[in-house]
Amino acid sequence: MSAIMPGATMPGRMAHLATIASDCYNRSMNGQPPVFIVDVMLGKLARWLRLLGLDALYVRRRKPEELRAVATSPGILVTRDHHLTTGRKYPGPVILIESTNWQQQIPEFLAKSGCRPFVRPFTRCPTCNGLLAEQPATAVEGKVPRFVAARHRRFCRCTVCGQIYWPGSHQRRVREMLRQWGLADTLPRNRT
Ligand SMILES: [Zn+2]
Repeated sequence: MSAIMPGATMPGRMAHLATIASDCYNRSMNGQPPVFIVDVMLGKLARWLRLLGLDALYVRRRKPEELRAVATSPGILVTRDHHLTTGRKYPGPVILIESTNWQQQIPEFLAKSGCRPFVRPFTRCPTCNGLLAEQPATAVEGKVPRFVAARHRRFCRCTVCGQIYWPGSHQRRVREMLRQWGLADTLPRNRT
């Protein structure tokens, strides 16, 4: 399988990127959305990928054999570690993130992965990566503060960790960031 070689010429790098992007599309065509394995150096990016609705496992391990062990399916490794992109140390495709600024890492990731068509904001739990399921207000009575229950009608609950989410100031900030990244068209309608 391919990896992005940091010292490669531009055509070579582009070929690798094209391979990764086509891998994303192929897996989607098979009904399998891409799975990203985000390494320990990119915790904030992993959280943002989840906010975008992308399947992002965050692993606190560094060695290639440890990364392989946590991959339940052929995952696309997302890393800042150049060593993991050389010598085919990781068996699957690798996306090397070069920016150190998280606000620039998202556009860099989207450009290199070709996964913008799969962005579905607010469909995954940013904490644990579980899928979110809509819940009526009656289902969360007693589980959220009263003023929240009185103000909102729609809630989501993480199907894995049980965390309950609702539109609030945090979501407004996320929406603003997505607009800055040119992802406004992916946003669901603002609902209370
Ligand atoms: Zn969760």
